[in-house]
Amino acid sequence: MPSFRPNVAAMAPYVPGEQPPAGAKVIKLNTNENPYPPSPKVMEALQAELSAGPAPAERLRLYSDPKALAFRQAAADVYGVPVEQVIAGNGSDELLAMLMRAFAGEGDAIAYAYPTYVLYETLAHAQGAKIVTHDYPRTFALPEQLFGSKAKLVFVASPNSPSGTLYSVDQLRTLAQSLSDGVLVVDEAYAEFALSTALPLVKELNNVVVLRTLSKSHSLAGMRLGLMYAPQEIAAGMWKVKDSYNLDRLAIVAGAASLRDTEWTKANVTKVRATRRFLTNAMGALGLEVLPSQSNFIFARMKDAAQAAGAYRALKEQGILIRYFPMRLLDDGIRVTVGTDKECEAFLAALGTYLKG
Ligand code: PMP
Repeated sequence: MPSFRPNVAAMAPYVPGEQPPAGAKVIKLNTNENPYPPSPKVMEALQAELSAGPAPAERLRLYSDPKALAFRQAAADVYGVPVEQVIAGNGSDELLAMLMRAFAGEGDAIAYAYPTYVLYETLAHAQGAKIVTHDYPRTFALPEQLFGSKAKLVFVASPNSPSGTLYSVDQLRTLAQSLSDGVLVVDEAYAEFALSTALPLVKELNNVVVLRTLSKSHSLAGMRLGLMYAPQEIAAGMWKVKDSYNLDRLAIVAGAASLRDTEWTKANVTKVRATRRFLTNAMGALGLEVLPSQSNFIFARMKDAAQAAGAYRALKEQGILIRYFPMRLLDDGIRVTVGTDKECEAFLAALGTYLKG
């Protein structure tokens, strides 16, 4: 028998939300993808990359740019951060793994408030790091105990998942300044849907990194594109723990084209926000306790865990996928991604029927 490291042998794998085969007839509101297509500029860039050279797909013969410069330069231009301070990842998940590898050794502490994005826990287990968690209150305000943490890495998803709660720049600054030796990782996977960003803190402080993804706001979950904005010293260190060719050729050109089409992103974000308002009100009218969301999903509490789990199952039977978390502090709620108006109407009708029955 191969012997895994004890922490790996003991850990559970991360369980992603269900991914039905492409083309399946489902209303997919379970993993926070964007309901609208990516910018047409993405398709143009992909076609150009694939048709360059004497033979079709000739460029795929060659390795991709290990620095992913075209993508990083686009990010630098659009977000006003020097390109040296931008790191590209194969999704922001890979950037989280890189941070863990770089900062958290075996037995080192990492900290976050629970419940949040479950991958932090999985990555810490894989590393053999010690996990320090503090429970969020029902309101999902940042717990006091996180301030002054001695952990090497402190993770805050802002907006948080699955609650949709945004944390203010002032609060995050205070948190970063309170850490004894740690780096504050602000995971802004959903920031484009929110009213503020912690990006200015990357310039202001030397221990804050901000993560972004093109999976949600840019409709490119399938291309796996993430970004890290980091102070100079941290950015430089990231090159040591990065896989050499972590982004493929198609992802690099698609990501650059997508970032530069800011009008397209803005238009889709505006539509998602409008639907979020409508969905929030409608779920409230059905009697659910809806948490105010600054994201492209909504978490709502129901009567109890049995009712929430039942809603998940009843909707699934009708081909509507939402997310149910059978976990402490979350099992009485459901999380639904903001889809198109039509998708949300179908969801609301099915939920209404379930609640009546
Ligand atoms: N952070 C948070 C809070 C998320 O919800 C997700 C999406 N599952 C990610 C990071 C990862 O996004 P990706 O790897 O697709 O960039």
